[in-house]
Amino acid sequence: MKPKRLAELVIAPAPLKRKLQQMLERPHPPQSLLLVGAPGVGKRTLARAWVASWFCPQRSSEGHCGACEVCSKWSATGEHPDLRILTPTPDQIKIDAVREARQWMNYAPAVAPYRFVILEQAHRLNPAAANALLKMLEEPPDRYHFVLTTPASDLLLQTILSRCRVVRLGRVPTSQLTDYLMQVRALSEPEARSVAELADGAIGNALRWTEPPDETASEPETKRAKKTEAPVSELESLRSLLNLLDELSRAPLEEALRLAERFREICKGLEGAGEERSARSALATGLEYLIVWYRDSLAIEGGPHTVRFQTHLEALQHLSRRFSSHDRFSDLQAITEARRAILGNANAQIVTETLFARLLSVR
Ligand SMILES: [Zn+2]
Repeated sequence: MKPKRLAELVIAPAPLKRKLQQMLERPHPPQSLLLVGAPGVGKRTLARAWVASWFCPQRSSEGHCGACEVCSKWSATGEHPDLRILTPTPDQIKIDAVREARQWMNYAPAVAPYRFVILEQAHRLNPAAANALLKMLEEPPDRYHFVLTTPASDLLLQTILSRCRVVRLGRVPTSQLTDYLMQVRALSEPEARSVAELADGAIGNALRWTEPPDETASEPETKRAKKTEAPVSELESLRSLLNLLDELSRAPLEEALRLAERFREICKGLEGAGEERSARSALATGLEYLIVWYRDSLAIEGGPHTVRFQTHLEALQHLSRRFSSHDRFSDLQAITEARRAILGNANAQIVTETLFARLLSVR
């Protein structure tokens, strides 16, 4: 996908966008920029918009012009002759990739005023590659710049961190994300709100889930075979999951095993957290939603505005009337424990059945 203009992006917290735009008004980009933020908040999109802005000889605080000769060099898949992107393959960035980028850095920019190297998930550099990168950051060739992304800055070597200008991306507030989805995806208000609640401010996830089918096909980053072949979309799975949690909040104990089975089935359609897309991590993701659900049922007592799943208030209220807050608090610990057990190779069926039976038992 071609880069978006910086001005078009929804960036949180709001003052950060202004700060980035002010940086574009300076004569040169910072040597190295590190984008930090949770998966799905839009680090990748921002990295490309940032690089495109500096490539463009007619850049403004809005970003690149999109029309000049340099801007026209972007391919439909988001490649550019003056950009190298290093990503983990599959879970590490190895030294060969960094060395290859170093070779490429012997040449002057082809068309743009600068050349950029984007290192996605820079915490996945293996130790040798991290050291090679550090050397490049210490003595970068003229007109070469870097953008690194990572979910948490403390995952990087302190020596790399200290060479970067750090930009921390936050979550977009649900109301703002709802408005934005209504605008760019033409969703109804309730639809947009339910997606925004599920995304919890991760705008990249919200946009990916609501992508029209033809766009999905043209975008390489979403061309993960598992997803395109899946019979149901991730968003549908998430919605089914919430409906199941709704049902769970009202169901009698006899339903525990059936609901546990349904839960495991629905989780198969979820994307595992982070890069590790295994069945276990998908199940753990499902349990994370259950954790939020129980947190919501406790938060509701402080007033409904503190609840994330606003569109399920009724079920949450039902749950909070049905079990004491003391019980729900200890259930919350049990869910957290179950999640840990799943990630630690425990039997998924036994763990979920035991958990659901517990959640529905009157103590
Ligand atoms: Zn341009």
